[in-house]
Amino acid sequence: MPSHAPCKSFPRIKACRAYAAKNVATSDAGQGADCHDVALSHWINGVHPMPIANPMSCWPQYSGARTSWGINALGSCVCEVEAEDGTVGVGVTTAGEPGCYIIEKHLSRFVEGEDPRDVERMYDCMWRSTINYGRKGLPLQAISAVDLALWDLLGKLRGEPVYALLGGKTKERLPVYMTTARPEVAKELGFVWAKIPCPYGPHDGDEGFRKNVEFFKSKRELVGPEYPLALDCYMALSVPYAIKLGRALAPYGLKWLEEFLPPDDYEGYAEVRRELRGVVLTTTGEHEYTRYGFRKLIAERAADVLQPDITWMGGLTEARRVVAMAAAYDLPVIPHGSSVYSYHLQYAFHNCPVAEFINLSPEADKVVPYFGGLFLDEPLPKDGFIDLPDRPGFGVTLNRSGLCRPYPRSDQSSLEQANANKARAAPTVARARL
Ligand SMILES: [Mg+2]
Repeated sequence: MPSHAPCKSFPRIKACRAYAAKNVATSDAGQGADCHDVALSHWINGVHPMPIANPMSCWPQYSGARTSWGINALGSCVCEVEAEDGTVGVGVTTAGEPGCYIIEKHLSRFVEGEDPRDVERMYDCMWRSTINYGRKGLPLQAISAVDLALWDLLGKLRGEPVYALLGGKTKERLPVYMTTARPEVAKELGFVWAKIPCPYGPHDGDEGFRKNVEFFKSKRELVGPEYPLALDCYMALSVPYAIKLGRALAPYGLKWLEEFLPPDDYEGYAEVRRELRGVVLTTTGEHEYTRYGFRKLIAERAADVLQPDITWMGGLTEARRVVAMAAAYDLPVIPHGSSVYSYHLQYAFHNCPVAEFINLSPEADKVVPYFGGLFLDEPLPKDGFIDLPDRPGFGVTLNRSGLCRPYPRSDQSSLEQANANKARAAPTVARARL
């Protein structure tokens, strides 16, 4: 008879807590998990050095700084899940205080007392129980923060990086491109390509169109003819405008045209992709949610590249399904921002060839952490690559200064939820929906 060592035992989850980070307007802690929570003069706010077209640009009173219409209204939300042995996992999103409410008052009941290895069941309960008010947007952002905290906890308990839990490395190093106002800096720093924001939209008329072409042409001249250069249109264009712009920029080597329509216009995305096929690539997905949203993008043949944000769309549990679905259609997945939460996913899947790094230095002139001061040791790209350190979980340490817990629950409340879940018998068979 073969002898087997017993399986490792795992502590249950003791508590699930949610914290908000102050907006940058009242703190110098950096933008945290909300990459748009920046000072007025920051390049990503669309005032200096050029405007950034967006869905609100059509309203004159909101056509300046993106913070003028509240792009940063929510701010950061941080979720901690603590195991009975004191190990803590951390996940983040941009849902701010409303996200904290959802996590504390609703989602915590599906986590406290549970086995941290049961990520599928916990995700499924969080997703099903929020369908009546969720499906996209803020509730999914809150679920993402909890899910990422669970994966971080699981990695720490197992003593392994998250990418190892997902199936291991498909690449030793991860190439990185930079989103920036200054593509020439991206090139100098060794990033594999650069993406710049589209300054003008249909509301700026023919003059704005000409200025868009001139803008792209000027950046092309700065980086030379060979350097890949993409354009992010942040949901600001229309179908005919996007087609016309893609064709006009193709002679100047446009790598891809990104998120040019509101995210619900799947048919519009498919039409632009058809029209630009063989001319430029089209990409979208940063404001899409769950496997259902991405299934629609894939089924409609709506993009050449999918760009889920792992801290928004449902966390790692849902993102790995999207990456697997995309692989069956030979579609690359190049996630939006999200630093380590994206990098670990991308290490683990072959069809995630390159990472995005959004340059969040105010003048776009140097490499600074994507999450600002939220973590003490966020790994940074160097010479165009990310090399993840060999640390358990997502490998980053939360900086707790500047965090507040707006909807605190007592330890007794967590204990009661945990005890109720522990007392409940695990399902002996999954209930099939036939
Ligand atoms: Mg984008």
